[in-house]
Amino acid sequence: MNLILMGLPGAGKGTQAEKINEKYHIPHISTGDMFRLAIKEGTDLGKKAKEYMDQGELVPDEVTIGIVKERLGKDDCKNGFLLDGFPRTIAQAEALQSLLADLKESIDYVLHVDVPEEKLVERLTGRRICPNCGATYHVIYNPPKQEGICDKDGSELIQREDDQADTVKKRLEVNMKQTQPLLDFYQEKGYLVTVDGDQEIDQVFQDIQAKIEK
Ligand SMILES: [Zn+2]
Repeated sequence: MNLILMGLPGAGKGTQAEKINEKYHIPHISTGDMFRLAIKEGTDLGKKAKEYMDQGELVPDEVTIGIVKERLGKDDCKNGFLLDGFPRTIAQAEALQSLLADLKESIDYVLHVDVPEEKLVERLTGRRICPNCGATYHVIYNPPKQEGICDKDGSELIQREDDQADTVKKRLEVNMKQTQPLLDFYQEKGYLVTVDGDQEIDQVFQDIQAKIEK
């Protein structure tokens, strides 16, 4: 089964990816992992990617797509794959279509884990961290026993700058602008399956299974 997972930050993609991986035995391929592997293996494309990354530049599409092609050609992808974080643009999505055609493969489903923006803001801004031991909490979903205090060592919890409302909202906006054209692209191709991500984790996974096993 060839899947692409889409969703905004905080939608719970990572958790669902783990569950999909466990149940269907297809590798969860995130863009970061793919780059790290190519660099570690020292492939020509990995070396090229590293040059750009070392200079703080974006890796150009032709390199990224080459790395995707190498990754999808590996043995563990024989039964399929779950792509996460790729494609990011229409150009990449089109390149993926043709590289899958070369491999005599195609996408089965594009899973969109959909969570309303205000819920994402709630999830993302609720995170609190212990500056002493690194323990993480969430004011709603995983609160410490005493508000604002680390259970383990009694330190005062902090909110990272990345988790503050303004930053979170900006990040979501940028992501939404990037994601929407891709959702439209896959909708048009008939691959898009939307799952309500504003539910218990297990319920979200049940919905995913119901949709992809049809
Ligand atoms: Zn602590």
